[in-house]
Amino acid sequence: MLANTADGGAPPPVAAATSGGSMEPYGSSKWPDPDPPRPHYLPAVPRPPDPPPTREPIKHSSIAAIVFLLGILGLVCAGAYFSGELQQFLSGSSATQSQPARPGLVPFGQRQDPLPGLEEADAPLGTPAPLNRTSGSYKFLAVKEDGTPLAYSPCRPIHYVVNSDLAPPSWQPLVDEAIRRASVATGLRFIYDGPTSEVPSTNRSGYQPDRYGDRWAPVLIAWSTPEQVPRLTGQTVGLGGSSSIGLSNGYKAYVTGTVSLDAPQFAGIVDTSSGEEVGVAVIMHELGHLLGLDHVDDPRQLMFGEASWVREYAAGDRTGLAQLGMGPCSKDF
Ligand SMILES: [Zn+2]
Repeated sequence: MLANTADGGAPPPVAAATSGGSMEPYGSSKWPDPDPPRPHYLPAVPRPPDPPPTREPIKHSSIAAIVFLLGILGLVCAGAYFSGELQQFLSGSSATQSQPARPGLVPFGQRQDPLPGLEEADAPLGTPAPLNRTSGSYKFLAVKEDGTPLAYSPCRPIHYVVNSDLAPPSWQPLVDEAIRRASVATGLRFIYDGPTSEVPSTNRSGYQPDRYGDRWAPVLIAWSTPEQVPRLTGQTVGLGGSSSIGLSNGYKAYVTGTVSLDAPQFAGIVDTSSGEEVGVAVIMHELGHLLGLDHVDDPRQLMFGEASWVREYAAGDRTGLAQLGMGPCSKDF
């Protein structure tokens, strides 16, 4: 689908689709899980790092959904590799190029991607906060051929919706604060579009015009259950990841994603002393994944994948997030 390059128009999104015509979702069994659940997040006990955790750690994991495209075999994705299924996927993409579908010329309702360029400005909407000090203690979920990380376009806002049906009553200031800190660290601009009834799905479409209009679906932040999101089973308290598009000119960017939070576990966390602070940190950690950060082995970082006392983005997290806020812009998707 959507693989026309002959008309000289804006390079259309290429194969940003599964068989269902939507982006490969995070967590799909189609791609190897890049990040098995790991212990994560103890309830807040501010203290130096030496004593080992005394409480049962809450496991945590991230998922990155990467849509691989023809010609980007150099792309590196944490834990993902080119399987036989991918080869089929690539072959399928190639075959569909004989049926070009230029996004802008396909009647609304038949397109599988939105009209390109919506809200894309000529320059980044913000800049990352200055770094007091840099650190190499960060890792990206995916790096492009040129060595820069796969990221959201900084020239358009990241819209998000929240399904708070299962959230604790105090959810909104927690999300607001986590989003604010992620925005400061990256310079990326976020816009809250309000509540949604959408629940996380392993095959979430990146384009849902019936629900969200003719645009990329907003980022979904949802309190959920292991029944809805099997990967939340056990001690995993949250999941975060994004899906990307690639254009025929080589441009790649994340376009939407999901943060899923285990509602019962999250309620238990928030219901402790300093619990809301920990809740913010959990959401910030998942937003780190959403924006493109992988786990690191450094327990001083918020993106450490195991039990942690860290409550704020640390130097390594910030160094990585600053780079994720300075990705390239494009009006072609
Ligand atoms: Zn994580």
